[in-house]
Amino acid sequence: MKIGILGGGLTGLTLGNFLGKSAEILEKNPEAGGLCRSLCESGFTFDYGGSHIVFSRDEEVLRFMTGLLKDNANRVRRNTKVLFRGRYVKYPFENGLNDLPFSDNASCLFHYLANYAGKRLGLGGSPKNFEEWVYWNFGKGIAERYMLPYNEKVWNAKGKEMGLEWVAGRVPEPPVIDVLKSSLGFETEGYSHQLYFYYPKIGGIQALPKELERRAEAKVTKGFGVKKIRPEGKGWVVSNGTKDKVFDRIVSTIHISDLANSLSGVPREVKDAVGGFRHNSLVTVMVGLKTRKINDFSWLYIPDKDVMANRISFPSNFSPNAAPEGKSSVLAEITCVEKDEVWRKSDGDLASETIDDMHKLGIIDRKDVCYSGVRRTKYAYVVYDLDYAKNIKIARDYFKQLGIDLCGRFSEFEYLNMDACIRRAMNKAKEMGGTA
Ligand SMILES: Cc1cc2nc3c(=O)[nH]c(=O)nc-3n(C[C@H](O)[C@H](O)[C@H](O)COP(=O)(O)OP(=O)(O)OC[C@H]3O[C@@H](n4cnc5c(N)ncnc54)[C@H](O)[C@@H]3O)c2cc1C
Repeated sequence: MKIGILGGGLTGLTLGNFLGKSAEILEKNPEAGGLCRSLCESGFTFDYGGSHIVFSRDEEVLRFMTGLLKDNANRVRRNTKVLFRGRYVKYPFENGLNDLPFSDNASCLFHYLANYAGKRLGLGGSPKNFEEWVYWNFGKGIAERYMLPYNEKVWNAKGKEMGLEWVAGRVPEPPVIDVLKSSLGFETEGYSHQLYFYYPKIGGIQALPKELERRAEAKVTKGFGVKKIRPEGKGWVVSNGTKDKVFDRIVSTIHISDLANSLSGVPREVKDAVGGFRHNSLVTVMVGLKTRKINDFSWLYIPDKDVMANRISFPSNFSPNAAPEGKSSVLAEITCVEKDEVWRKSDGDLASETIDDMHKLGIIDRKDVCYSGVRRTKYAYVVYDLDYAKNIKIARDYFKQLGIDLCGRFSEFEYLNMDACIRRAMNKAKEMGGTA
């Protein structure tokens, strides 16, 4: 059986590892890796699809990922902060309440506990959107100071417009005792499966897909952008507009809307469903500094809406090889909606405005900048709006009855991290008779 894998990101490459010689990966770009690609320039290495770290609750997958890196894996302890009104507050925010001014700390704790008591008594109803869930779960203090402003900034959507399908396991939900302790100034750790993470010593996060590609028995065909797909006999013909490839079965890891658009005869209801999916795009601003080490932080969350970036990470703190000897690096992430005001800014403006913001916030000194670069990523985040559940069911049912398998972040249209993509690819490969 010949299997066509559409897309050579982490999901496609993992499928290619477990499906063996019977599979061929079709990747539109000249290199594979998708969101997990890294730029190595002037001695700096940046994950330009956004800062990536290796962590997982899934032990088998974590072993698989660190096994790909072998000696190239650096184990790092997270030291992450929320930059709240000029103060560094330990992340997750609810584990850092004692870093807040007393009145903010007291308000966060009071509302958290009042809310917790209400929940225990069965009051407060059941939340129907993200905003309601945040109030219900954290209380007004934490909700209004951090949870809502930060999330609304990242998602480019109001909490009211967002559903809850993505929340479990993603938004930390600490035990009440930890919130109490954190308010009183005792050390607690939240989101603890990520407290220690791995990062490639050399090559940035792209070291992972590179190793997957090296090991894959499947053929990897690059520069093949899938444009049209049509059924033929019991199989499929996949075309890039000039060349056809014939497969018995296809697994798509490309965006579900792009897949639908490559087929003809898609019913109106399905077109509307996939047309209704919302995603966020990403601008990354990569900055090299001629100073050795500017801090010990892993990354910073920035809820302030007057600052363009939502997250700033420090790649040279993940691996010293991410910057030349004696230098350091910073990576700012700005989520946006494709073609909005941010997306349309020139690279020069994006870099200089971001550098100015970081200078004003005291994160870097503008005069130390010795390198800057800007990249744009069209598909970065799946946004779960209130129609998500309805639309995803229509779309998945359609592709299932058509016999096209969906696998991966934008194909299944779920907020999947690398570990979940690998898990889904392993499961899919097993289902198709592969070796996983
Ligand atoms: C800002 C950010 C930070 C993240 N940080 C982390 C992290 O710290 N840890 C973590 O575990 N995960 C993280 N992730 C998630 C991680 O990037 C994804 O889970 C993973 O990379 C998704 O892989 P994929 O192969 O499913 O999708 P993609 O990486 O999107 O791959 C899809 C591939 O298909 C190709 N393609 C698209 N259209 C076509 C076409 N028509 N024809 C042929 N090929 C096509 C693309 O070029 C691409 O190579 C982060 C994501 C973002 C956006």
